[in-house]
Amino acid sequence: MSSKKALTGKHNYAEFKEETIVNRVKKMVDYRAGLDISGLHIKLSYGNRKTGSLVPSISLIPIADCNNCAHCAKGCYAIRNIACYDASRKMMAQNSAIAHGDLPRYFRELDAAVKFVRFLRIHVSGDIISPAYLTGMVDVAMKNTHCQFLCFTKCFDIVNNYLDDHGSFPENLHIIFSEWRGLDVPNPHNLPTSRPVWEGEKVEGIMCPGSCSECAAFDKGCWSLKKGERILFEAH
Ligand code: SF4
Repeated sequence: MSSKKALTGKHNYAEFKEETIVNRVKKMVDYRAGLDISGLHIKLSYGNRKTGSLVPSISLIPIADCNNCAHCAKGCYAIRNIACYDASRKMMAQNSAIAHGDLPRYFRELDAAVKFVRFLRIHVSGDIISPAYLTGMVDVAMKNTHCQFLCFTKCFDIVNNYLDDHGSFPENLHIIFSEWRGLDVPNPHNLPTSRPVWEGEKVEGIMCPGSCSECAAFDKGCWSLKKGERILFEAH
């Protein structure tokens, strides 16, 4: 598969209807509302075509669990390419139900789940839902220094407030501010960023090669991005 196909998926942004987006989110939110989480556990996803087989991920509900997605909801990768599957919708809704219903358990289970994992992508879908959630991510990273954690976020205020108070993240927690056309990105700590590039735009940065597993294996791409550096994605 060419890297171009891996990046763009089956649909392009212009083709995706608002009604479809609303319906897919509603299905997950409704499913989450009906769950009794007492007998349920978080679920990792083991490698989609972008992350690859070396990089499992944990995801929440797209849009419903994103606190700053007014600009990007119509172009949401997860809505287009993941939330089209019933099993994926249920997995994201179940993780979301546990995160909202019992956050300490969510992170206890994540801590257990990564004991034999070298790389974890936090949120192919969803975002940092609260300051306590970010603290949970930091705690799990500190307890699991064998594992590299990668998280793209548009929850800039939660991250900036954490860094104002604590100064830095653990070295194995890679937080990347996710830019979008027209979106203000307050970045006083000069965190690395990522940005889609639309046709005709000229933006400075390092082009995403398309496989997170390959980047992880060779310590490149987002896994080794430094302050002030930016990864670029092809957008259509
Ligand atoms: S640059 Fe980042 S997003 Fe692109 S393949 Fe590498 S790790 Fe994944």
